[in-house]
Amino acid sequence: MSNYQLGSEYAKQQDQNDALASYRNRFHIPKDKHGKEVIYMTGNSLGLQPRATKDYISQELEDWANLGVTGHTHAKHPWLHYHEFLTENMAKVVGAKPIEVVVMNTLTANLHLMMVSFYKPTPKRYKILIEADAFPSDKYAVESQLRHHGFDPKDGLVLWKARKGEELANYDDLETILEAQGNEIALVMIGGVNYYTGQFFDFKRITQLGHKYGCMVGFDCAHGAGNVKLDLHDSGADFAVWCTYKYLNSGPGSLGGCFVHERHAHNIDLNRFAGWWSHNKETRFKMRDEFDQLPGAEGWQLSNPPILSMAAIRASLDMFAEVGMEKLTKKSKHLTGYFEFLINELNNKSIKIITPSNLEERGCQLSIQVKNADKKLHHQLTEAGLISDWREPDVIRCAPVPLYNSYQDVYELVEKLEEILT
Ligand SMILES: *Cc1c(COP(=O)(O)O)cnc(C)c1O
Repeated sequence: MSNYQLGSEYAKQQDQNDALASYRNRFHIPKDKHGKEVIYMTGNSLGLQPRATKDYISQELEDWANLGVTGHTHAKHPWLHYHEFLTENMAKVVGAKPIEVVVMNTLTANLHLMMVSFYKPTPKRYKILIEADAFPSDKYAVESQLRHHGFDPKDGLVLWKARKGEELANYDDLETILEAQGNEIALVMIGGVNYYTGQFFDFKRITQLGHKYGCMVGFDCAHGAGNVKLDLHDSGADFAVWCTYKYLNSGPGSLGGCFVHERHAHNIDLNRFAGWWSHNKETRFKMRDEFDQLPGAEGWQLSNPPILSMAAIRASLDMFAEVGMEKLTKKSKHLTGYFEFLINELNNKSIKIITPSNLEERGCQLSIQVKNADKKLHHQLTEAGLISDWREPDVIRCAPVPLYNSYQDVYELVEKLEEILT
């Protein structure tokens, strides 16, 4: 393991030796009211803006100004096929084949579209299993699907809970649930990296377990995409959805991503909601044809997409392609390990990291539980120029993002935290 050291000299040294250090300059770093760059630790909520994003969007505005409707075919990056410019790089980020990936809609909308196809309840098999601390939107979405099909969430929603006194979900418990109710569960839908604890689940293990009991298996990768090395194809999962405004730095409310495993790519019998963008590209504009389903994830698109948002995603994905998830996660593990080391060295009895200490079971986020704290602590941190994220009742989430956070950031973060806590 790493020989982390205390003191600011070590942080400085690490930044000097960091092969990815220069990427920080390719982002806009927000400043506090004194004009000093903040310590931005909330890339898990809204990633920072790459400096290149403006140019990518300007290009489309210019083409729109100069070309009007002919931009669909004659823009520098023709709008008609714009989503295809994103597919290959997005597929690399999530470990999928291009046919399995599409950028479209937003996360929760995509989750519903996926459930139209992969949640097909019968009177005997109708339940949906999610992790107990699931992100609220995911929970609301699956509950509304249960109701939509005439089931009561009180009975139909199965929660995979952490044991009493523990924070993390345990795989043995998942097995126990599936052993007992597997034949009643239609869908297993898990937040791939839990937004609250930062626990990164074993996709393959969960998928194999779910499939063993005949369930469909899907993942919400909102906190996984661009943060951890995902192998969606190899995991065998049936579907996955994610957003691009967190670790993928594509701007507030930007479009989401969607994965449908290759084994479903040509299954036109799979029920789904359709629109003209799910129709064969060759004949889409004849407008009179019988519906002709596009194969692969593209076949779940509905509308012609917002190009300005896609331009921002393209700007970000070009940077991810340049760096690659391999190098990115290598730095990420070291940087977050350093963060963990400094926190542990504080020896402060009132704080506890609830994120797994195993590097394979987490991304860059550490969730720190502070005994008897309330939101006042979060205000104090913000006043000190430290942008973190507060979750009730007592957890601060901090995510040192390897593309733009430095070792110095982490050092100062822990220093400030110590000042405020003592
Ligand atoms: C951020 C996040 C969402 C947000 O959903 P939107 O539809 O993009 O607003 C949903 N689920 C999870 C797990 C998230 O982390």
